[in-house]
Amino acid sequence: MYKGVWTFAEQSEGRLKPVSYELLARGRGLADKLGSELSAVLLGADVDRSDVQGLILRGADKVYIVEDPILEHFLVEPYASVMGYLIDTYKPEIFIAGATTVGRTLMPYVAIKVNTGLTADCTGLDIEEDTGNLLQTRPAIGGNIMATIKTPEHRPQMATVRPKSTVPPPRVAGREGEVIPVQVPAELLKSRVERLGFRGVEEEEANIEDADKVVAGGRGLKKGENFSLIRELAEKLDAAVGASRDAVDRGWISYPHQVGLSGKTVTPKLYVAAGISGSIQHLAGMKTADTIIAINTDPDAQIFQVADFGIVGDLFEVIPALIEELEKRNNEPS
Ligand code: FAD
Repeated sequence: MYKGVWTFAEQSEGRLKPVSYELLARGRGLADKLGSELSAVLLGADVDRSDVQGLILRGADKVYIVEDPILEHFLVEPYASVMGYLIDTYKPEIFIAGATTVGRTLMPYVAIKVNTGLTADCTGLDIEEDTGNLLQTRPAIGGNIMATIKTPEHRPQMATVRPKSTVPPPRVAGREGEVIPVQVPAELLKSRVERLGFRGVEEEEANIEDADKVVAGGRGLKKGENFSLIRELAEKLDAAVGASRDAVDRGWISYPHQVGLSGKTVTPKLYVAAGISGSIQHLAGMKTADTIIAINTDPDAQIFQVADFGIVGDLFEVIPALIEELEKRNNEPS
């Protein structure tokens, strides 16, 4: 009998990633509808104990934790073997993970091991009233439709969820739960892949999802060198640099900057879109920004439909004017 909702608590260097808490918001809602328990599953080595406790304070009833030096960093073979073992042993009804690099790599391996389906990159999860099945909703056909997928015949029902698509639940002081350390058979803790080291992306590239402000450029920039304008405005605003897929495909800027359906989802306080038409796929990655400013020569550009402030004009005139104004303000005595 499969029962309960599980979330994957992803860690790096022994500290939990924000997505681990976001998943608790999704998981708690599903568990409450089913009247079942919510558990977080954590694999690592010497994981920060206050982070483990944080999972309980933010909504987990149980935390299953497997610790071993080989689990310190993500290696797909031992992670998938351990997850498969935990699922076979404890039989959760639902298991969700973040659609991060780790989640997207791990979950298909686990789905195969436990012989079930997997819906990748969901934006919505709910419980079907009559059946109790998990309704897994995700954009399909280039974002033009929303598809709802069910796994009626197999358990657990597994999905990955876009990071940043939910707000982490607040910590509730005094909330109680159980931390369950699990010993797994030694043969599961083997990897044919050896981790030699880790080379991170440039600081600027890594920042886009966590940035408070993003200045993004698109095909309207005409050529790669002109991204310097976007970078200059971003620097003045202390913002990260984003881009449309068209700009990335043309090689004007690297992929980690891409915002949208096949890039990153950002929810900054301020999003400036310059020379970006506002295709449905681009909007999917930024329309939840608090304030959107669009600069475009075409008054009918779709981006203006989501913009809070729209500037119909040539970005090669508007951006230098904005930079000049910001410089003046920065130089004013405070
Ligand atoms: P365009 O649509 O060509 O728009 C350029 C804009 O610049 C125009 O509106 C024009 O009026 C304006 N402009 C021109 N000159 C100036 C000027 N001097 N000053 C001001 N404005 C000017 N796209 C994404 O962005 N992110 C994704 O993740 C993504 N994923 C996709 C996934 C799939 C499966 C598919 C099919 C497509 C995806 N796309 C994505 C591509 C998307 O459909 C568009 O092709 C792309 O977003 C267009 O980029 P753009 O706005 O830069 O270019």
